[in-house]
Parts: sequence; C-alpha cells; structure tokens
Amino acid sequence: LFVCFEGGDGGGKSTQSQLLLDWVTSLGHTALLTRQPGGTAVGQEFRRIVLSPETGNLSPRTEALAYAADKAEHVDAVVRPALERGEVVITDRYVDSALAYQGAGRALDVDEVEEVMRWATGGLRPHLTVVLDLPPEAGLGRFEGRDRIEGESLDFHERVRAKFLALAAADPDHYLVLSARDSIESIHADIRERVAPLLPA
Ligand code: C5P
Repeated sequence: LFVCFEGGDGGGKSTQSQLLLDWVTSLGHTALLTRQPGGTAVGQEFRRIVLSPETGNLSPRTEALAYAADKAEHVDAVVRPALERGEVVITDRYVDSALAYQGAGRALDVDEVEEVMRWATGGLRPHLTVVLDLPPEAGLGRFEGRDRIEGESLDFHERVRAKFLALAAADPDHYLVLSARDSIESIHADIRERVAPLLPA
C-alpha cells in the first residue's frame, strides 16, 4: 500500500504522516515513512540544492528536473523495493507537489511536468493521496525565515493550493482532502478511517 501526503507548507504533513506510520505499525504491518525531496542520500543533496538560498534560485525547468531526479532515485531505491516487499509506504510529498509547485506555481506547462514526473517515477502512483488543505496565509507563518520558499508570493501559493485541490477533485477515489485547520486528532481519525480498508490482510 502506497499512501502520500500532499498540501501546502505548514499543513501538518509531517505530523500526520508520522501518526499514520505509528498507527499502521501498531497494527502489525511493516511500514516505511519517507519523503520527497530528500528520501535518499543523493536526494538530500538535491533537497539542499533546491532549497538553499545560495543555489536554489534555479530556472524553473532546472528546478523541475532536480525534483524529477530526486523522485527517480527515491522510487527506484526506496519506494518500489519496499512496496515489492509488501510494506506500507508513506511519503511526505510526491508527484503532486511537482505538479503544484513546479507546474502551477512556476507556471510551467503542467502536462509537460506530469510527463517528466511520470517518466521519473516509472509511472508509480499512490493508492491514496491525503491532501492537507490550508489557505496559504495560514500555513506560511510557520516558515518565516526558514528558506527561500517563504519568499514566493501569496499568489504563487494560491496557485499551488488550487492545483492540489483540482487534482483531488478530478480523482476522488484516490484522494482524501482534509482541512488542515481541524484538530490533529480529528484529522488523524479521518485518515485512519480511509486507510483501514486499504491495508493488507
Ligand atoms: O514539505 P517539505 O518541508 O519537504 O518542503 C520543503 C520546501 O520545498 C517547501 O517549502 C515546499 O514548498 C518546497 N517544495 C517545492 N516543490 C516541490 C516540493 C517541495 O517547491 N515539488
């Protein structure tokens, strides 16, 4: 089972993905929590490059390719092998983040970005994507001064948010959209309810 967490910054993806991991593990499943960018050693380097103020100011296509390379390595070295072993894999961000940030956010052609990301991931798609939705102005406060990303305009983050919501709306069978403003406990409960029937026997 492959579950992804998506959404804008400051929506609690890391908290919720950890809670899901703990719950799935407590049920006796072998599960792995990982993330993009940065889920492999080389991915950590890509993460550092794209997020640091010194090197992160890349042209949009270069940035997209760096994220694509991070995904290719992550899927080949970590995600797919774990899925083949029958494990539950939970990722903090996946392809949708690239469609939202590099596609909608940076105004690249989203279909082209999707094609690149599909190639990079060998077409591997999650069984479920949980979108933790939050108005950008609510999420960004948490990140003040952390990296260059908070320098993006509100408009950028509005486009990112709208893209996540549009992807979810187009494929409700594979998405769960939750308001990140709900309590940690109630979000976790909603995620459990949706994931429970998907878990391996
Ligand atoms: O969620 P995480 O802390 O891993 O994201 C780090 C930063 O990278 C965030 O500020 C996010 O906006 C940005 N990001 C991006 N494009 C992606 C994934 C993440 O700009 N495809």
